[in-house]
This record gives sequence, structure tokens and C-alpha cells, in this order.
Amino acid sequence: MNNEDKDILHPVIANRAVTMHILKAFGLHTSKKLGQNFLIDPAIVSGIVEAADVKAGDRVLEIGPGIGTLTQGLAETGADVTAVELDKKLPAVLAETLKGYDNVRIVPGDILKVNIPEIMGPGAFKVAANLPYYITTPILMALLEQHLPITELVTMVQKEVAERMTATPGKRIYGALSVAVQYYTEPEIVLDVPPRSFIPAPEVDSVVIACHVRPEPAVKVKDEKLFFRVVKAAFGQRRKTLMNAMRGAGFAKEEVRDAMERSGIDPTRRGETLTLEEFAALADAFVVNK
Ligand code: SAM
Repeated sequence: MNNEDKDILHPVIANRAVTMHILKAFGLHTSKKLGQNFLIDPAIVSGIVEAADVKAGDRVLEIGPGIGTLTQGLAETGADVTAVELDKKLPAVLAETLKGYDNVRIVPGDILKVNIPEIMGPGAFKVAANLPYYITTPILMALLEQHLPITELVTMVQKEVAERMTATPGKRIYGALSVAVQYYTEPEIVLDVPPRSFIPAPEVDSVVIACHVRPEPAVKVKDEKLFFRVVKAAFGQRRKTLMNAMRGAGFAKEEVRDAMERSGIDPTRRGETLTLEEFAALADAFVVNK
């Protein structure tokens, strides 16, 4: 098949006219509630595919395929794509827009509720997504905390969220999300994406962020659950000293004082100044008490 025939059978969906045509043909109205902002810039689709280094034979989980814009870019590489979509109207649309791609499987459902190990089966996979912004953090946390065999996690997020994901200690925006993302991955902002790259245009700037999943977490901790409890407590009341924030989150005064002494962390510091290593030392110092 030459390229011209291929374009007629499979027009590139990441295009304003093609997207408008699909929406009209299926009588679709984009849903703000479901975070539907569809990509119309083919360079951004290629950018996501390249950032995740998607190749033939790779297994890819896509979250929220919409009308199939990014899915098509992923499928064109020859990768096996599993795409989970919440909007009940879209699987029928995707069956048409992605007709002929036998390497795509659409799973209707909520990404926060589906059993990912069950739908992906055994073996490593990559994640690529233009995320619905109303649940970016819960999705990222769910993917990371489950210790899934993900090798690359490349997502479109709001610029402000990406800045939080990559923030370093001492910055105002450094928080529990920064610690969690950097504990599991090495995040890297790879593309700036303006509102005009989507239909409808979102009110915020976006970026593509590649989170390279570490083979082992950045720091070794004795009890991961406790580590994240300490991190959340430390950032729970940002204006307070570490000691007061931890007490406010339900840790006993004596316990906190002992743990800080053992880990050599000054209790008058604020949570937002602690590095991952210091959070790990602090959390491990609590374990001795048990
Ligand atoms: N991938 C398409 C693109 O790039 O044009 C659409 C991206 S759009 C920003 C987000 C998609 O996620 C929408 O199709 C929306 O219906 C879907 N979505 C929203 N909440 C979801 C959830 N909880 N689980 C799975 N998909 C969801």
C-alpha cells in the first residue's frame, strides 16, 4: 500500500479538521467533567511516542484514548496497545477511528478501578497518556504505588503539576507529590505544549513529562508505608515546624522527638526542606520504636 492510500484509509487523527469531522460524525460533545481535551498536533503525538521510545512489540498502556489520537500514533509503531477509557460513548467511536489496527485493545472502565495487572498480564510495559487533568495526581500515585512493572511513564500533564513533580527541596512547590514521583522515578520535562494543541483549548499550559522508572526506589527504606505517612504528615501543615506538623498528623510527641534525635534532623526545620534521604532516615528512625 502506498502512503497516499494509507492516509485515505487511516487519516491522521491529530489534526483539527479530522478531529472536528469525527466529533460531528458521531454527534460527540467533549466533556469538561471527564477532562476531554483532544490533541490536534501530530508533532506532540510523535513527541510522546518518542519520549516513551515505543517500538514494535512493546506493550503499552494508554489511559483515556478519547477518539484515538495518541492511540493511533502508538499503534503505528507496531506496539501492542491496551487503552482504558471511561466514557461509555467512546469504544464504539474508537472501533471506527482505529479500524484495521489489530494491535489495539480498548478496555472500557475507570483507570482508578480496573485491575491493571489483570488487564496487562505478566511482563514489563510502558504507559503513555494525555491524562484527564481532574485526576492527574490520583492516577500517577496509583500507577507508582502499585509497583507495576512499568519501565517508562510518559504523560501530558498541566505545567504546574509537572513543576511540582520535579521540584527540589526548599522550593515552595516541593511537596508529597515531588517526593513520591522522585522516589520511584527520574522525571524529565520533555515538551512544552500550548493550549492551541488541543480541542477544546484548555485554560492552562501543558507539558509532556517522561518519568523514567528507577529499577529500585531512589532511597532504601525499612517500611514504605510508614515513609509515605511521614512524608504526608510533614507536608500536611506546611507552615509548621516538622515537630508540630508530625504531631498534628497524629504522631506522639515523644516518638517524634526520639526519631528526630536518632536521625539527626532538627525538629524546628520545615518538611519542605527535607531531601528524600532525610525523609528516609526520619521514617527509619520511627521503626526502631516498634
Ligand atoms: N488520548 C486522547 C487525546 O490525546 O486526544 C484524549 C485525552 S483527554 C485529555 C482524556 C481522556 O481520558 C478522555 O478521553 C476521557 O474520557 C478519559 N478519562 C477521563 N477519566 C478517566 C478515567 N477515570 N479512566 C479512564 N479514562 C478516563
